[in-house]
Parts: sequence; C-alpha cells; structure tokens
Amino acid sequence: MIKMSTKNDIQNLEEKRKSRLNELLHISSMIRGSYKKSYCRCGKPTCWCSKDKESKGHPSHRISWTKASISKTKAIPKEDVAWIKKMTSNYRKYRNIRTKLRKLNNELNVLFDNLEEEVIKRTEKLKEYF
Ligand SMILES: [Zn+2]
Repeated sequence: MIKMSTKNDIQNLEEKRKSRLNELLHISSMIRGSYKKSYCRCGKPTCWCSKDKESKGHPSHRISWTKASISKTKAIPKEDVAWIKKMTSNYRKYRNIRTKLRKLNNELNVLFDNLEEEVIKRTEKLKEYF
C-alpha cells in the first residue's frame, strides 16, 4: 500500500512552497546590506563635536554591505533613511524566504524518494518474481 501520508505530505509541502514562492516574487525592490547610524568627529577644533565630550560626534546615516568578502559602507542622505531601511528589510525578507524554499525543496526531495520506494515496493508485490 502507498502510504497516503506521503502523498498528502508532498501536496502540503507543494502548497507551502507555492505560497513562499509568491511572497518571493512579490518583492520587487531591495538593496543588499544593512542600515547603520554612526557618529564621527569632524576634526575641526572649533566645532562643537571636539568640545562636547559627552557626544559621540556628528551623526551619519550609512549603508553597509559585503561584496566578495570586502566590507563596504556608504553615507546616505537623511531623507533616504526610511527608504534604505525598507529596501534592506526587503532584502533580508528575500533571503529568509530563499532559505525556507531551500528547506522545503530538500524536504520535498526526501518525500519524492520515499514515494518512489513505496510505489516500487507496491508494484513489485504484483508479481511473484520480485
Ligand atoms: Zn564637528
């Protein structure tokens, strides 16, 4: 007998996979990297940042990412902070969905192997010579 559970499991996973794929395809804009607010002192002796020891200096909005194992960072305009946060969040979401899809694909492959064995075993039972 073919275990109904294997077929059901395959169909359930395929449904999950389909909905994950939909989520993935709906992400139409993203930026690789992460937003970070950092502070620096400009170095001018007359500037407030050199006098105010409590402060960490001038705030700077930055995006950081890694390309070919090299860390990169770039300053971004303040008005783009919300946009950058959204775009980098989309990127993280995209990567998370890809991880989930990979896991589902692996699980599906195991089930396909199981189903193959089950169907062959059942078919072999139809003949004496197996
Ligand atoms: Zn300064």
